This record gives sequence, structure tokens and C-alpha cells, in this order.
Amino acid sequence: MLVSATEMLKKARDGHYAVGQFNINNLEWTKAILLTAEELKSPVILGVSEGAGKYMTGYKTVAAMVKAMVESLNITVPVALHLDHGSYEGAQKCIEAGFSSIMFDGSHYAIDENIAKTKELVEMAHKNGLSIEAEVGSIGGEEDGVIGAGEIADPEECAKIAALGVDFLAAGIGNIHGVYPENWKGLDFDALDKIHNATDHIPLVLHGGTGIPAEMIKKAISLGVCKINVNTECQLSFAAATREYIEAGKDRQGKGFDPRKLLAPGTEAIKATVKEKMELFGSVGKA
Ligand SMILES: [Zn+2]
Repeated sequence: MLVSATEMLKKARDGHYAVGQFNINNLEWTKAILLTAEELKSPVILGVSEGAGKYMTGYKTVAAMVKAMVESLNITVPVALHLDHGSYEGAQKCIEAGFSSIMFDGSHYAIDENIAKTKELVEMAHKNGLSIEAEVGSIGGEEDGVIGAGEIADPEECAKIAALGVDFLAAGIGNIHGVYPENWKGLDFDALDKIHNATDHIPLVLHGGTGIPAEMIKKAISLGVCKINVNTECQLSFAAATREYIEAGKDRQGKGFDPRKLLAPGTEAIKATVKEKMELFGSVGKA
């Protein structure tokens, strides 16, 4: 059974740790993340971007696969299935498809329109038992073709969006999606502290978790971050392990071309990355 992310993130906030959102792309990704969460007794959020949803042939397919897999793998830890950076239409589709959580990213709209649309979706999500994340101040880098400039969110705008009843809030604090450039200035902790205090301590979400130094992650958690999104890092681990397998010529040995063998090292690499992150975020043993 899937759960909304509301309770697990309130617990994380009160317990001063963060729950990882790990984005999924296919069956192997999903299996690797679920098995690791169960092994470490950690709550987990499976993120699905609109692009990944399309790739997996639609949100209904994703919801059916995840629900069935939670059951067949005997997963007992809390699992939320969450739409990542959803559009207004995408959010509605995920509510219908049986997701347990959605993000509405209205950060590219003017604040008044972001507020109006977020408000409608908060009602729809809560009526159906889902949690909802909203975003203020676009996150830098590229996410499915949407380029954000890496803004620092305005605490007053954050307060307005938080007051709509969203369950957790993504606020730009200099974080970006993808790999961080060499000259990256780091997270703006002063901004994070102001946002935390302006929003009545709503659980905050840190996007772009790949490559943020461990010390910055810990400090962000101490300042109210309860959910950290990891996507690129699992992709890099998967690609590196798969490359190693191919370059070693293992696909040409025996039945090494069998997809169940070919994809195994990459799947194990995702598990290792997820484990490392759950340990860093402090969610191990919190299920
Ligand atoms: Zn993001």
C-alpha cells in the first residue's frame, strides 16, 4: 500500500532527518530503491517526472507497477509515489491514476497564478488523500526541458504558498538540478533560515541533491529540510556500472547479453547510491 508523504515528513522534521525522494525510470530502478529502503528500514519517496511517466507509458502503468511491487516484495516501510515537477494537468492525472503524492511546480508562473493554481490542487489532492508539494523560486538547471535560473526564493512568497495548506514546500536556495558547475556558490543558508521561519516550519524540500557536499546537506537538514530529491546521482551510478560491464566484455561471455545479467550491475549500483544517501540523510531505521 502506498501512503502520502505528509506523516513521514512531519516525523522527519521533528526527528531532524530527511527522507530521500529517488526518481524512478523503469522496473529495475523501482526494485532497487524499494529493496534498499526495506533493508535499511527507511521511509522512501519514489519520484516520477512527467518525462519518466511518459517513458513508462503513463501514470497508470507506473502506479500499478509500484503498488504491485510493494506487495510482491513484501515492502513494509512507508512508500509514497510522488509526481515530481508536475504541471497542473499532470497533477490531476496522477490523482486519478492512484499516486499518493504530487508536486505542482507553478514556479514559472507569476506568483498570483502560482497561488491560484496551487490552491485548487491542494483541495483536489487532500480530498483524495494525497500530499502535495509546491515550489517557489525556480530551481536552477534543467528538468525535463524546463530550465530554471537557480533563484533564491522570496520568504514572503513562500509564506503565501505555505499558507494554502501545501504539505511541504520546495524553495530555491541556490540549488540546481543535474551536476553542479565548478564555480557553484553553494547553498544559501541565510535564505533557508528565513524561509524556514517565515513558513511556520513547514517541511522544506531540497531539489538537486546530486553533488551537494555532505556537510551542506547536514546543515540544510538542521535548518528545516526534510525531503531531499536525488535523481542524477542514481543515473550516473547506473551508467558507470553498466559501462564497466560492457567495457570488460562481459556481455560477450556466455549468456552475458541476457538483460537480467546486463542490467544487474547498474541495478546494484543504484542500491549502493540509495544506501549512501539514506545514511547521509539520517532516515535509516526511521520506518
Ligand atoms: Zn526538482
